[in-house]
Amino acid sequence: MSESLPYISTRGRCAAVPISQAIAAGLAPDGGLYVPEVLPKLDPSAFDPHGSLADTAATLLAPFFAGDPLAAELSAICSESLDFATPARALPQQNAKVLELFHGPTAAFKDVGARFLAACMRRLPRTDERPLTILVATSGDTGAAVAAAFHRQPGIRVVILYPDGLVSPRQAHQLGCFGDNVQALRVAGRFDDCQRMVKAALTDATLQEQRPLSSANSISLGRLLPQMSYYAHASLAGWHAHGTPMNFIVPTGNLGNAMACLWVREMGLPIGQVRLACNANTTLPDYFAGAPYAPRVAIATLANAMDVGAPSNFERLRWTYPNEPDLREQLQAHSVDDASIRQTIASHARDHGDVFCPHTATAMHLLDHMREQGDSANWTVVATAHPAKFESVVEPLIGHPVAVPGSLAAMLARPASAEPLTADDDVLHHWLLDQVTA
Ligand SMILES: *Cc1c(COP(=O)(O)O)cnc(C)c1O
Repeated sequence: MSESLPYISTRGRCAAVPISQAIAAGLAPDGGLYVPEVLPKLDPSAFDPHGSLADTAATLLAPFFAGDPLAAELSAICSESLDFATPARALPQQNAKVLELFHGPTAAFKDVGARFLAACMRRLPRTDERPLTILVATSGDTGAAVAAAFHRQPGIRVVILYPDGLVSPRQAHQLGCFGDNVQALRVAGRFDDCQRMVKAALTDATLQEQRPLSSANSISLGRLLPQMSYYAHASLAGWHAHGTPMNFIVPTGNLGNAMACLWVREMGLPIGQVRLACNANTTLPDYFAGAPYAPRVAIATLANAMDVGAPSNFERLRWTYPNEPDLREQLQAHSVDDASIRQTIASHARDHGDVFCPHTATAMHLLDHMREQGDSANWTVVATAHPAKFESVVEPLIGHPVAVPGSLAAMLARPASAEPLTADDDVLHHWLLDQVTA
């Protein structure tokens, strides 16, 4: 058996663990995020040029799992979870591509990470016979993807926290439509409150003793690692077709999706420039413009899944590029306001017949802006959700209904409910003790 890669915390105050333990835990015990001690390197020639997304993922992730009990299951985990397409569709008029990540069961890219994490958790041995509660804070899409991935899985309960009134009506419906082992809590606060409450519960050792908890947020390595596969798959396809690296514009909130892209580049695969498209939450754009890092309270925008003022994966970004001047050279970040999101959705539908969700529209706006500035590089815009999830924003702008994908339509046809909760760490603590059976 090859030697296994140790996983350490970004805060460096706890012992290194094997990957299955890092995945099972979610957050490191010192409150940091798990990272591999070193990022493995791979050559493009290691990959089967005719392989599926799942094949690419299995090759890409093998060094991360080597020596771990999950290594023998990795191919099965990949084929079970990455069983939908992530096509890079050409946009001929823009001389660009759009990488569509929304063809999974809940119509957002979060399905990739959630399904992979669930496939790992199903195989992890558990010594504790009590049910495991998966706590997830969501700004809209994560909760549904995690709920769908773990729905009716024996021994697992899912508790979703979302900011009441700050997700789209269809997102709210999706979050509340599962029932069975899934409970949705609508929190009177913002996404950052939900995230803080989940972190507080996960780092509370006494609570953990009474109610075994795990997380499924983008802080979990079990979500981050599989997101690397679509970047590897798309960039290798581009490499084989044109012999050039692919450049990506990534709609960004918590930096989970973008982090995956950067790690693939660090591993040695053909990725060129990476640009972050943010909404009116400017923590990252300000930082990359030269200001000190200053997390702040999120403001609500049309791209609600990116309403993040304190991007949780920033710690991983810092770990990846420990030298700050170097980090600031690695990528650029731009802020796109709601007016530009609206204008981009409307103009692309009118001029090209392409309909984008508000998140994807931030990245598309950045591409349009760069083209106006004379940039002619081969950009791939990452499309993170299906526009039908955001019909109340999109349809008035394009003047016609957006066709709803089948799996989303089935969820919308079910009844839905969510319980109200105050945005307070102690309130969640007591709710978990009272409502979740030991
Ligand atoms: C979660 C999400 C994002 C932001 O992704 P991060 O990994 O948090 O940066 C962007 N778009 C959509 C549709 C999302 O659901």
